[in-house]
Amino acid sequence: MEKECVFCKIIRGEVPSEKVLENEDLIVIKDINPKADVHLLIIPKKHIPSLREFKPEEADILGKMLLVSKELAKNFDQAKDGYKIAINVGRGGGQVIDHFHIHFLAGNLTGLP
Ligand code: AMP
Ligand code: ZN
Repeated sequence: MEKECVFCKIIRGEVPSEKVLENEDLIVIKDINPKADVHLLIIPKKHIPSLREFKPEEADILGKMLLVSKELAKNFDQAKDGYKIAINVGRGGGQVIDHFHIHFLAGNLTGLP
């Protein structure tokens, strides 16, 4: 439900967030409960519930979301040596917010898969 979705609210500016980057397709914010020194969320502006709902014609959004990680890596020293990308899909996959997003993690990744 886009009206109630917390990430849609962040995109509309109705819920505060620490925004790192924004372009016409996506926003990047700091995760409110970081699991690493750097924990960012790459969120498409289009409300797509999870990876399972992606349509073939939306594949370019996925590509742009993955490639923006290169820009993020330049901006965070902890990511110079490398970083981790994670996607949780569905409750069984650990997804809590039903608006697709990619986790960007860097620095102190011990304990993460
Ligand atoms: P997932 O388990 O993949 O659905 O991840 C959801 C992530 O969103 C978790 O890491 C939460 O800490 C994070 N999160 C939840 N609400 C907010 C918020 N208002 N601002 C930033 N991050 C949030
Ligand atoms: Zn949404």
